[in-house]
Order: sequence, then structure tokens, then C-alpha cells
Amino acid sequence: MTRQAEFGSGLVGRLSHGADLLEELTRLCSDNRISFGRVEAIGAVQRARVGFYTQSEREYEFTSIDRPLEILNLTGNVSLKDGVPMVHAHITLEDRDGRVYGGHLAPGTVVFACEYMLQRIGGAAYVRDFDEETGLALWQERGDSLG
Ligand code: ZN
Repeated sequence: MTRQAEFGSGLVGRLSHGADLLEELTRLCSDNRISFGRVEAIGAVQRARVGFYTQSEREYEFTSIDRPLEILNLTGNVSLKDGVPMVHAHITLEDRDGRVYGGHLAPGTVVFACEYMLQRIGGAAYVRDFDEETGLALWQERGDSLG
């Protein structure tokens, strides 16, 4: 499934020290009515929590990393699930010894300093809904197509 997309205007900024990274990105999308778009960020976190989706069990396993880490990369998207913006982001993190961790960004990741970019995508947005094959809330062809 593929749709044409128009990459539009957006927001750039810095997140507050001590904010929850995923919750803050989600709040920015809600407050600025970004219902479909792309997300990226770099910076550092005080601690992190990431998920791994176990395909056989069809559930996320979460890991907490309770120490300062660099955000080497955060890439994601935002789309509507149950009518509200849901940020889906993956993050790559590095500790002071150069070890790298990563996964599906979960609540509980606390910002030390973070610069973000949010870009609206117009034209034809997907919305998230339950996918039988994977057990995940994935982009679906059905549902509202938002300008
Ligand atoms: Zn994910």
C-alpha cells in the first residue's frame, strides 16, 4: 500500500529538560493539530525505556536503561489512532562507553536536552487500526483520509 504524500511545513524546537520524550512529542502534535507527519530528534536523555515487539507473543517487552545516554537518532511518524495523534518513534542511544541500545520509544524516557523537528504530511494520511496479521495497530487503507 502506497499513497502520494505532500511534505509540508512543520515545527522545530527544543524540548524541556525533564520532560517525557514521547509524551512531549505527542503533546506538540496535539497542540498544533499535526495528525500525520514525520518526527526526528537528537540530543540526550537522563534515562530511557524502549520496547521490543515479540512477534510470537504479540506483545511488547520493555527495557529500562537507567543512566544518561546520547540520542544518536530518533526517527518516527505521527498518525491518528482512535482519533488522537499517536507518535510512533524508534530511538538509537549510546552510553558513555560507546555501547549502543535502541528500540521502540516508550513512555519513561526522560529528556536531558533534545532538539526536534516535526513535519506535516498532507495529501493522503493513514490512520492506525488493529492489524490481524501482526497484532499491531498499523496504518490501514480504510478509515478517514485527511487533507
Ligand atoms: Zn515501533
